[in-house]
Amino acid sequence: MEEQAIIDLRSDTVTKPSPEMRRAMAEAEVGDDVYMEDPTVNRLQERAAEIFGREAALFVPSGSMGNLVCIKSLTHHGNEVICEERGHIFNYEMGSMSAIAGTVPRPIYAEDGILTWEMVKKQIRPKIYYRAQTGLISLESTHNMAGGTVYAPQVIDEICDNAHALGIPVHMDGARIFNAAVYLNSDARTLTAKCDTVQFCLSKGLGAPIGSMVTGSREFVEKARVYRKMFGGGMRQVGVLAAAGLIALEKGPQRLIEDHRNARRLAEGLAQIPGIKVNVAKVQTNIVILDIADTGMTSSELSARLKEHRVLANGVTPDTMRMVTHLDVNAEMIEQALEVVARVVRPKTVGCRAR
Ligand SMILES: *Cc1c(COP(=O)(O)O)cnc(C)c1O
Repeated sequence: MEEQAIIDLRSDTVTKPSPEMRRAMAEAEVGDDVYMEDPTVNRLQERAAEIFGREAALFVPSGSMGNLVCIKSLTHHGNEVICEERGHIFNYEMGSMSAIAGTVPRPIYAEDGILTWEMVKKQIRPKIYYRAQTGLISLESTHNMAGGTVYAPQVIDEICDNAHALGIPVHMDGARIFNAAVYLNSDARTLTAKCDTVQFCLSKGLGAPIGSMVTGSREFVEKARVYRKMFGGGMRQVGVLAAAGLIALEKGPQRLIEDHRNARRLAEGLAQIPGIKVNVAKVQTNIVILDIADTGMTSSELSARLKEHRVLANGVTPDTMRMVTHLDVNAEMIEQALEVVARVVRPKTVGCRAR
């Protein structure tokens, strides 16, 4: 039997640029983007602004920097930032909102990672001079660590309307906002219409090798450009990356439905394997969180066993793992991965964790 290709379910960031992207990168027209003279970057920024119905957009090297320039642009040192407890900005961005932007996270736990105005309003600091003030509310859709869950548009709108009435801006960490749009059969512009700023990743399901975009008002983007430079993110002939980003932006969203179908099939198959628990009904997009407590293995042990069979997946906690579908994993590979998981998680180990 020929050796099975690696099935990498660790993240949708692992996608490799397509031949079309590589060609576009090789042929990209470039200039110095710190002088705002890179025509390909300028085109990407114009398209992103247009797609999101905003005045302007800015290309940034990573989603983390994108979120940080938004937080920094919208807040003041000492402000609180309301976010969800498992949120990316709180857990996976090196505390930059504190270390660099000088803000204090005010995390709220929400089932499925989805905040509501009802939850948020209780955490807004009263306007008293001796209390730290709420500077920003940050939402995450899809919510990564809650399993790719999606905010209903009315929930976002209600938070935005109420926050704005109090003079508080709302940021959308929309790293996977196109997955949310596909799930809702809507579009990114409608979903985020009331958010002050949006960050989205080109480098995830959309398939670009590098890069994120932030979008909002012209005034915001002017500030964001200053902070991007301050954070070391001013890039030069970066049209070579923007060229891939343009293809990701134009063509990426339409195939995300396949990733969602594959994730659902993966979840259904995993749910059949003794020792593994998955709430199939909660798998809305391309992320599957599985509870492996009853396999008798920790996530790092299971991860190592899967790797021996060329299936890659990472633990979230010792009892949970995350699997993410993307354009480099097809339906056949999902079936192969399921076979590997079933083989590795043998029923005889169920219920007796060897530690
Ligand atoms: C991936 C991701 C980001 C940005 O990550 P980078 O690795 O810095 O590009 C931000 N928010 C969420 C929810 C993400 O999943």
